[in-house]
Amino acid sequence: AAKKKAPKRALAAATADGVRLTHPEREVFPGSGVTKGDVAAYYAKVAPLLLADVGARPLSVLRCPDGVGQACFFQKHTGRGWGDHVRAVAVKEKGGGSDRYLAVDDATGVLQLVQMNVLEFHPWGARASDLEHADRVIFDLDPHPSVAWSEVKKAARTVHDALAAIGLESFLRTSGGKGLHVVVPLASAATWADAKRFAEQVADTLASERPQTFVSVAGEQKRERRIFIDWLRNARGATSVGSYSLRAREGAPVAMPIEWSELARLRSAAAYDIRSALAKIARRKRDPWEGFDRVRQALPSLRAAAGERP
Ligand code: ATP
Ligand code: MN
Ligand code: MN
Repeated sequence: AAKKKAPKRALAAATADGVRLTHPEREVFPGSGVTKGDVAAYYAKVAPLLLADVGARPLSVLRCPDGVGQACFFQKHTGRGWGDHVRAVAVKEKGGGSDRYLAVDDATGVLQLVQMNVLEFHPWGARASDLEHADRVIFDLDPHPSVAWSEVKKAARTVHDALAAIGLESFLRTSGGKGLHVVVPLASAATWADAKRFAEQVADTLASERPQTFVSVAGEQKRERRIFIDWLRNARGATSVGSYSLRAREGAPVAMPIEWSELARLRSAAAYDIRSALAKIARRKRDPWEGFDRVRQALPSLRAAAGERP
């Protein structure tokens, strides 16, 4: 078979981090004019912020080689020739063997993934250095399409208050899709069993206290006009979209961390996009998740053991 011609030099461009980008002119979000080059420029700018959330963790990445609206697929294993800054993390599988999950630690790694047409970054809730412990718990609020946006916002506030009442600080982000994510950092990592049990308990309690608002059972049919508190993101191997990740959806939305004080004025879960996210980052006075890695807190059931917060 004839060997495929290498892409023309003129069509390749070097990004700020020296990663060679092929087809930077290719439109990724149809009709928007947002190209692969724009996607690379976006990720080059937000790399330090993105890496604070997704760096040095096993990742699932969503690749869209033919752009959004065409076939996109999740990939969690490293591929051959992806670049020297895309590393493999050995993850033990149930069968006894181990699998090579992908991870990146720096901006070059991020851009090498962008070169492979990665649009979305979805980290584990654990670090590559400690795969058997969750260092965050995520409540992924998934509203039924019939739920009013004001109710989604109220629900996020309710989750915040329920966590605060048991001494847990939490952080907020838009998903870039339909819902909001409430994220709880854990200074002393919990086993997956602990993290999942805790998340399920919180979800069950809220659903029983406010059955008109919340549902905690996955796939339940009574979700009409209700919000599913998706606590299943807190399992070993489960992922959620990372902060500052683009979403492969119309309008190039971004999963955007925001302050709790901004919730009332938030227009939608997709309020920030590839352009307005950068403008917002430039404008804001501080990183709304600034304290995330400094919060010293443990799950209530583990506090005695951790010697933290009585
Ligand atoms: P929305 O606000 O619209 O719900 P979301 O990102 O929270 O946006 P969900 O459907 O609630 O979307 O979350 C599902 C999560 O499960 C994804 O973010 C992703 O991390 C993970 N996921 C879903 N499908 C796959 C898959 N095939 N492979 C890997 N991870 C997946
Ligand atoms: Mn969701
Ligand atoms: Mn979900």
